Amino acid sequence: MAEKILVEHLVKKYDEHTVLNDINVSIKKGDVVCIIGPSGSGKSTFLRCLNQLEEITSGNIIIDGTNLTDKNTNINKVRQHIGMVFQHFNLFPHLTILENVTLAPVDLGKLSKDEAEKKAVSLLESVGLADKKDSYPSSLSGGQKQRVAIARALAMNPDIMLFDEPTSALDPEMVGDVLNVMKELAEQGMTMVIVTHEMGFAKEVANRVMFIDGGNFLEDGSPEQVFEHPQHERTKDFLNKVL
Ligand code: ADP
Ligand code: MG
Repeated sequence: MAEKILVEHLVKKYDEHTVLNDINVSIKKGDVVCIIGPSGSGKSTFLRCLNQLEEITSGNIIIDGTNLTDKNTNINKVRQHIGMVFQHFNLFPHLTILENVTLAPVDLGKLSKDEAEKKAVSLLESVGLADKKDSYPSSLSGGQKQRVAIARALAMNPDIMLFDEPTSALDPEMVGDVLNVMKELAEQGMTMVIVTHEMGFAKEVANRVMFIDGGNFLEDGSPEQVFEHPQHERTKDFLNKVL
């Protein structure tokens, strides 16, 4: 199926505060979508709704044809196909890098310990950190930790990857390495939804950019369309501030 993620009439409220206001979005296999927008506009909430880390107020989220709001849907099963990377890495501090990457596939019975370790080593190689496999997270830089977090998410063989400001907590000199890993993933055809303030990355790597403000997507188009010909004044204001 070409359509990976279908969002229909998504509303998310916290009490009476509407954070996402009737969102309709369809994301195809292999799409690399960058979501941009001001602080508090609902970017993280939108991502978290996509894998039901937040319970939605109304609407439908359909992943690969499976409706997440359907009572019979095994949400844990759906989540196994969706990798998520956060701003603050969230590595397990008491586990080595290798153990961080092998934990989920072994615990969830997807791979034997041997298979998981082989896969982890190859993923760590692909993010340039094979030599760190026996280190602990505390000895790594932020950029290295984030690359481990990406490897850890990939260890479950996801076919969708969600990124919530993956480089916002990094020192500037660390940002490029993480973006390069993400760019490689995009080139391999991974379906990706990325909340980011890295406009250069969005221009270069995304095939689609969406601007959200006040819980509504105001723009949705190619990087060229959104950056060069935004439809809304709000988008122009935002771009003037960040570009
Ligand atoms: P962004 O990621 O774009 O900065 P968020 O999705 O984190 O924005 O937040 C959107 C709005 O929802 C903000 O007004 C925020 O205060 C509110 N919000 C987010 N999480 C919660 C929560 N758990 N409880 C109440 N309000 C929340
Ligand atoms: Mg956020």
